[in-house]
Amino acid sequence: MTHHRIYNFNPGPAALPLAVLETIQATFLDFEGTGMSIAEVSHRSRQFEAVLDDAIARTRRLLGLDDRYHVLFIQGGASMQFAMIPMNLLGEGDSADYVNTGTWSTKAIKEAAIVGKTVKTVASSEDRDFRYIPKDISFSKGAAYAHITSNNTIKGTQWAAMPDTGGVPLVADMSSDIMSRPIDPAPFGLIYAGAQKNIGPAGVCMVIIRQDLLDRVPKTLPSMLKYTTYSEKKSLYNTPPCFAIYAVQLVLKWLEETMGGLEKMAEVNEKKAALLYDLMDGSEFYRGTADPDSRSRMNVTFRLPSEDLEKRFVAKASEAGLGGLKGHRSVGGCRASIYNATSLEAVAALADFMRTFEKENG
Ligand SMILES: *Cc1c(COP(=O)(O)O)cnc(C)c1O
Repeated sequence: MTHHRIYNFNPGPAALPLAVLETIQATFLDFEGTGMSIAEVSHRSRQFEAVLDDAIARTRRLLGLDDRYHVLFIQGGASMQFAMIPMNLLGEGDSADYVNTGTWSTKAIKEAAIVGKTVKTVASSEDRDFRYIPKDISFSKGAAYAHITSNNTIKGTQWAAMPDTGGVPLVADMSSDIMSRPIDPAPFGLIYAGAQKNIGPAGVCMVIIRQDLLDRVPKTLPSMLKYTTYSEKKSLYNTPPCFAIYAVQLVLKWLEETMGGLEKMAEVNEKKAALLYDLMDGSEFYRGTADPDSRSRMNVTFRLPSEDLEKRFVAKASEAGLGGLKGHRSVGGCRASIYNATSLEAVAALADFMRTFEKENG
């Protein structure tokens, strides 16, 4: 059966690989011969445990994590991590460094203050509306960790390379670029990512934490807010979001087996982003909002000559089967989110549409 499917440029929840959706559809009534859906089986069943183990093993392989790293699945989204990180990692008298590169970093900084922890904003790109990634940052010697947002979903910027923190463990919100390119895990103490941008549906946040950071977790925290609860019980202290974790497992399998791993995925992502940035660089009509050296390969943000044209662009694109191109309500303009599951074909179709729209309206 064929279905009506659009080219999906939504920022999150976002496109999932068609092959993953088809597997979910095909297995939804009878998961692994259980006669039940994945949404109906026990989280303590061997079938679900196999899903969880496979998701963890694939994460380790894809990111090259050694056994000091624990892969956890936590509910509450990336937003809950904004509070859990300082609660778990900052003890009496500790301080952490934060780099403010836009909406999500700003929220992370705010939450740390709400839970009564001391954090220092060591760099910010707020002076130019977060159009760039700060350079040559001096991190504080002895900071408990240094927090960055690796890809700024709303402002359309991305760290091309990770900053040198001088040995301070790096903590990164990778919600919108996890698994989009290979990483060197060495500098990272903690990585977190809400699944709904690049690795699955909403409902689960992947947290990768190194043992030495886990050792800092105070025993006094409530069980559900403590990383050690999840690491000690393999994310099965209480009922986890089984369906969301199953979808994540399938996305990771697709990444390894169909896309050929993160090197290959990154090459495709480079090509996709280049199609749109090259078009903008050769046009007076479309204006990228991020500085060229800070551009995101996941969220391409741009403006048209007027807000009326932007409205028309989004409406006409939608009529042409290209969805989700409206910029975030806080910044306006347009944004094409081109995560892993958005194909080169989809981005090429968008580039064609943009050229035609410019001819007709420029
Ligand atoms: C979407 C997003 C968030 C918020 O994620 P929730 O899962 O909705 O809490 C945080 N950080 C980044 C970088 C995001 O893109």
